[in-house]
Amino acid sequence: MKGVSTTDLLNTAPCGFMSFREDGKVELVNETLLAMLGYEREELVGRHVEQILAVGSRIFYQTHWFPLLRLQGLVEEIFLLLRSRTGEDIGVLVNGRRREREGGAAYDCILIRVRERARYEEELLRARRAAERAHEELEIQKRELEQANRRLHRQSLELQAATEDLRRANDALVARTTEAEHLRIAADEANQAKSKFLAEMSHELRTPLNAIAGYVQLLEMGIHGPVTEAQLGALDRIGRNQAHLLRLINDVLDLTRIEAGRIDYAIEEVPIAEVIAAVTPMIAPQLEEKRLVFEASVPPALAVRADREKVEQILLNLLGNAVKFTHAGGRVSIEVLPTDDTEGRLRLHVRDTGIGIPREMLAVIFEPFVQVDETRTAGPAQGSGLGLAISRDLAWGMGGDLTAESAPAQGSTFTLVLPLAGSAPGGPPASA
Ligand code: ADP
Repeated sequence: MKGVSTTDLLNTAPCGFMSFREDGKVELVNETLLAMLGYEREELVGRHVEQILAVGSRIFYQTHWFPLLRLQGLVEEIFLLLRSRTGEDIGVLVNGRRREREGGAAYDCILIRVRERARYEEELLRARRAAERAHEELEIQKRELEQANRRLHRQSLELQAATEDLRRANDALVARTTEAEHLRIAADEANQAKSKFLAEMSHELRTPLNAIAGYVQLLEMGIHGPVTEAQLGALDRIGRNQAHLLRLINDVLDLTRIEAGRIDYAIEEVPIAEVIAAVTPMIAPQLEEKRLVFEASVPPALAVRADREKVEQILLNLLGNAVKFTHAGGRVSIEVLPTDDTEGRLRLHVRDTGIGIPREMLAVIFEPFVQVDETRTAGPAQGSGLGLAISRDLAWGMGGDLTAESAPAQGSTFTLVLPLAGSAPGGPPASA
């Protein structure tokens, strides 16, 4: 190497270099190290190497580093803190090698400054702490997740149990519905059998009853010979009872037909005044007999959509009852009003000042064969308890209704509701 001496090279090397003896006294030190520490050469050469070590590194030097270097002859990449002339700590990585020579060993060291190391270490430490914190948080979150998971599992079990309960309840419901359906079918069948039986029986009974009426008439006319007064009286009673029985049978037949849905309705536009005019003459004799005041207030030009004959039948029944259950001198009236609602229906009230109906009976008088008290009227033409049942069924069949208001000794009001003509026909209300 011409022109450049080894000493020059050593002095310009990009790392510190020094050599010290067995006793720790510095023999050689290059410019780079001197510059790093701020010493002059004379200030270090011949001094103990510990002069340039920070306190911690001095102890480390004595207990580990130098004994190891002496023993192994080579120690590499050891971090030491140097102390500069001004007291500043400077971190270096040191490689040391033992060199044998005459008059005792020498120890050559190169020292590479590690400016960034401390910063890296700190950052590493910070990163590690952050990682630890993140880990802790993760642990916490994991525990929370586990708890949530356990809760969810519990809830899922509860849900399963609830679902199971629901399924069982549903099964029970299905079973009960099926049972109810079977019962309903059985009841329907029984009802149909009853209707069929009643219809057939009624029909069978009417034939001999008509024969009885025929023979009574023949006897009354004297066709089979002269009849005494007493016999005439008896024939009259036979005739009236026959008529009553026939009415009863006809009512039963009517009801069974309605209940079996075997009744046809000839729906047309029926002026309500015409119906009233047709019916009132039929009850005039009874009204007169009991000296009852009768009044009808009907706005003209009101018409319903209904079966004329059936409205007459209902009205006759209501008026008949009003007369039957009102004492002599009382009052019977008819009042017709269109409803003030938007349904387009008409209300026909049949009022009387008669004996009235106890509250608890109001609900049941529309049931077949129900009579409040059979002893309340006198006379041979006692009812059957079918009139109101038939009348309400007929009203329902025409999309109307029949209701009653009454109190004992306060008279009664029966209200027939029917669709007004010109309005859309409505369906029958639900059965009570
Ligand atoms: P009935 O043939 O007995 O008149 P209905 O079905 O027409 O049968 O009437 C049932 C019962 O309702 C009657 O027996 C009577 O007790 C009661 N009832 C009906 N209308 C009146 C009324 N206007 N006043 C008092 N009670 C009445």
